Amino acid sequence: GSLLTAVDLCKAYGPTPALDGASFSVHPGEIVAVMGPSGSGKSTLLHCLAGIVTPDSGSITYGGRDLAAMSDAERSALRRGEFGFVFQFGQLVPELTSVENVALPLRLNGVRRKEAERRAAGWLERLEVDDLAGKRPGEMSGGQGQRVAVARALVTNPRVLFADEPTGALDSLNGERVMELLTEAARSTNAAVVLVTHEARVAAYSDREVVVRDGKSRDMEFAR
Ligand code: ADP
Ligand code: ADP
Repeated sequence: GSLLTAVDLCKAYGPTPALDGASFSVHPGEIVAVMGPSGSGKSTLLHCLAGIVTPDSGSITYGGRDLAAMSDAERSALRRGEFGFVFQFGQLVPELTSVENVALPLRLNGVRRKEAERRAAGWLERLEVDDLAGKRPGEMSGGQGQRVAVARALVTNPRVLFADEPTGALDSLNGERVMELLTEAARSTNAAVVLVTHEARVAAYSDREVVVRDGKSRDMEFAR
C-alpha cells in the first residue's frame, strides 16, 4: 500500500491559492518527481506532506495515520525519526565539518558522539565524499556540499526523503552525479523519495511523475 498519501489539498497564503485540490501518494521505496513551473505549488505540497505546513483542507496520511490528528510534538517526532530533507542549498552548518554535520541528526536523537561519527563516516563513504570528512562547507564545492547534505538526510535511515530542487544550484554534470548518488543511496535503504524539480533531466531519475500546475496535481499515467 501507499506510505504517504494526500487527498484534495487546498492551501492559500493570500487571495490566490498555492494548492487548489492537489493529491499525491508514494509507496515505500518509490521515487516520485513533483514537477511543474515556478510558483505552481510544488514546495507547498512538499511542506504539507512533511507536516511543516498545515493545509486549509484535504487529508494527509502517513502509514495510515492522519497527520492532522497528531499533536505538534508527534509531527515533529515524525519529521526527526521518519523523514529526511535535502534542499537546494544552505542546509549544512557552516561551523561544523562534514562528519560533524552528518552526525548532527544522530546526536540530536541521543546517539553518542563516537557512534554517531562512525555512522556518519560510513555515509560520507557511500556518497563518495569521505575525503571531505574534516572539511567545512565553505571549503567545498556546491556538488560536494550536496553530497554531504544527502548523507546527512539519510543517516537516520528515514522512510521518506524529501528533496526540494536538490540540484538547483549545481551545473548539469554535478547535478547528475548528485542525483545518481541520491537515488542509489535511497534505493539501497528502501526510502521513498519525494523529489521536487522543474527540470526534466532531474525528474528522469524518478519512477513516476506528478505534475503540479496552478496548485492542481496530475498523475502521469506512464511508468518508466
Ligand atoms: P513552487 O515550489 O512550485 O515554486 P510554491 O509552493 O513555492 O511553488 O509557491 C506557490 C505559490 O504560493 C506562489 O505564489 C508562492 O509565492 C506562494 N507561497 C508559497 N509559500 C508561501 C508563504 N510562506 N507565504 C506566502 N506565499 C507563499
Ligand atoms: P523553494 O521553492 O525551494 O522552497 P522558495 O524561495 O520558494 O524556495 O521558498 C523558501 C521558503 O520561503 C519556503 O519555506 C516557502 O514556503 C517560503 N515562501 C515562498 N514563497 C513565499 C512568499 N511569496 N512569501 C513568503 N514566503 C514564501
